[in-house]
Amino acid sequence: MSIRIGILGYGNLGRGVECAIKQNPDMELAAVFTRRDPAGVSILTKEAAVCSAAEAMEWKDRIDVMILCGGSATDLPVQTPEYAGAFNVVDSFDTHARIPEHFANVDAAAKAGNKVGIISVGWDPGMFSLNRMYANAILPQGNDYTFWGKGVSQGHSDAIRRIPGVKDAKQYTIPVEAALESVRNGENPCLSTREKHTRECFVVLEPGADAASVENAIITMPNYFADYDTTVHFISEEELRAKHSGIPHGGFVLRSGKTGWEEEHNHLIEYSLKLDSNPEFTSCVIVAYARAAYRLASQGVTGCKTVFDIPPAYLSVKSGEELRGSML
Ligand code: NAP
Repeated sequence: MSIRIGILGYGNLGRGVECAIKQNPDMELAAVFTRRDPAGVSILTKEAAVCSAAEAMEWKDRIDVMILCGGSATDLPVQTPEYAGAFNVVDSFDTHARIPEHFANVDAAAKAGNKVGIISVGWDPGMFSLNRMYANAILPQGNDYTFWGKGVSQGHSDAIRRIPGVKDAKQYTIPVEAALESVRNGENPCLSTREKHTRECFVVLEPGADAASVENAIITMPNYFADYDTTVHFISEEELRAKHSGIPHGGFVLRSGKTGWEEEHNHLIEYSLKLDSNPEFTSCVIVAYARAAYRLASQGVTGCKTVFDIPPAYLSVKSGEELRGSML
């Protein structure tokens, strides 16, 4: 029998999860749940239902894993604990500083409902976290580096859009090539925020807005831009739509370590991602972890887990025997 998946929230991630399920033969999409009027939400899978989020609890016995695709800022802190009491759940909560608190809330709810919840699944947090952890365990003596980009930062794009006079905007985070090279050369550099990433902004102005004051508001914005070298380009709405409508992202996780009695040998571990679509890739990771949630639940495991707690083989559609035969 297939693993029956529910999707709660149908934005970029919701659609990405739907596409990823299509590529996994052991899974089927049972239903999409939305807080909007279901009649206004059209999905790609003909066999699946579109329902109001208010009806989700009626599907308790028809869904094996509910994938929560709401936003990290305000949706997931409420939704994941709420649904973890009734369903096995997976989310992609990415507010790093609040993960411990989110973990505790989901753990209590999932244990009370005898369910499994896997939180903060994706690429960062997610695959990048795993690679940081593996590299640290293997090379205890060394330095960690994470670079993001080139890619669109939704948070920084939103921050620009809130400036008076801005009609629309896209912001790219770009790793500084010289910094990356220095790490790869084993120089173990000590890098400031400014030395690691630059920021490039493409901005559409409202008619009559003053470009110079908008640019100044961007490059001096505390927390978002003030600590970076930021370039601002003013472009037309048509150009923004034509050249900057994608959601690419990616980045690099590196650890440079030393081994030997005198620590005379250098090693470099590098994991990199170059993603045409951030939400579609994130969704692929989530779907693999939904398989793990299903398997853990089948074994009676309950409570909250993160990527650190999941045995790698639980992610794969292949059996242990197939994995040992083809990938070990
Ligand atoms: P999004 O497209 O803004 O969707 C978020 C929610 O907005 C949807 O679930 C949907 O819920 C609601 N929504 C309201 N009106 C909508 C409309 N007109 N069209 C589409 N959705 C609408 O956000 P997203 O790109 O899917 O990202 C979701 C979260 O994923 C982000 O907040 C981020 O934290 C996380 N993320 C994590 C990683 C990682 O590596 N861990 C990577 C990427 C993203 P309803 O259907 O209920 O209205």
